[in-house]
Amino acid sequence: MQCLICESPKNVRFNCEYKYDVKEDENYLKGIKLYRCDECDFTFAHPMPPMDVLNDYYENFYRTPDRPPYFLTGNIEDLKRECLVDRNFNYLLYLTTFLDFSKIESVYDFGAGNGDVGYLLKKKFPHLKLYCTESDKHCKEILNERGYKNYTNIDDIEEKFDLIISFHSLEHLSDTKIFSFFKNALNQKGHIFYEVPNTEKKYFETRDSDSPHLCFYTKKAFEKINEIYGLKFVNFSYSYYSFEYDAKTSKDARLGYEKLKNSPLPLLKIKQFLRKILPKKLIQFRRDLSKVKSINSEDRINNFINNSGNNCYIRGLITPK
Ligand SMILES: [Zn+2]
Repeated sequence: MQCLICESPKNVRFNCEYKYDVKEDENYLKGIKLYRCDECDFTFAHPMPPMDVLNDYYENFYRTPDRPPYFLTGNIEDLKRECLVDRNFNYLLYLTTFLDFSKIESVYDFGAGNGDVGYLLKKKFPHLKLYCTESDKHCKEILNERGYKNYTNIDDIEEKFDLIISFHSLEHLSDTKIFSFFKNALNQKGHIFYEVPNTEKKYFETRDSDSPHLCFYTKKAFEKINEIYGLKFVNFSYSYYSFEYDAKTSKDARLGYEKLKNSPLPLLKIKQFLRKILPKKLIQFRRDLSKVKSINSEDRINNFINNSGNNCYIRGLITPK
């Protein structure tokens, strides 16, 4: 079996079993095991799920209401407010520290979700033109409203971009060739920013689940990618919470969802029904009230401290060599 970065079978060995998140994931991502290339410090799923199955998963299941990790409510107003989370402010501070946005005209978000970061950047830098690729039907309306031009097929893209951003998307792809597309779609002096889970050894010792991720990156894996595609780091950093905290929240979310779903009462349906009939302002008030707790939590510092020595995400800002 070939490594998905160096393409050599020489240093590839079995790493571990694949850990599924919610039960339904097993219907889509069948029989996966994880293999690792020691040369690239890179782990990947095998066998890879077929493309049509992955498309179906992301278009129709991944962001269904109440499924972790998003716990969507089906209400577009909730989605819009989600952009004001600490993690996005960390991205804004990081990007504006390294890049001069007065010189950036176009931003392309690969796997944009609701396109929060581009939307927030445009609030401050209204001259920015926003582009993205996002096929999830739950995101289309909000991306459109936020002024994104959404290319659902990357082969249709003819523009070149000054900044390509990708938040927690690369790990969902079934190979690493997206960097070839990024390089071609980037202006010569442009930059690419990405963040993905940090899957060094400690990840595999602590994590609660892998699905639906298929590629598991480390700093060394990205160094190899830079070599292959003629890119270099402007910055490489570790970010977000500890591995232990991440595993715990992921486990709590998974168990919470399974409990709701398996309850003798149709709790998920009742929840969705209540959301429909209760006044929106009341629901919003309840939600804001629960957020007050987290605003006053010291846990929040983890959203703003990079390179602590125990961060579960990694990010790179790269540019052509
Ligand atoms: Zn390799």
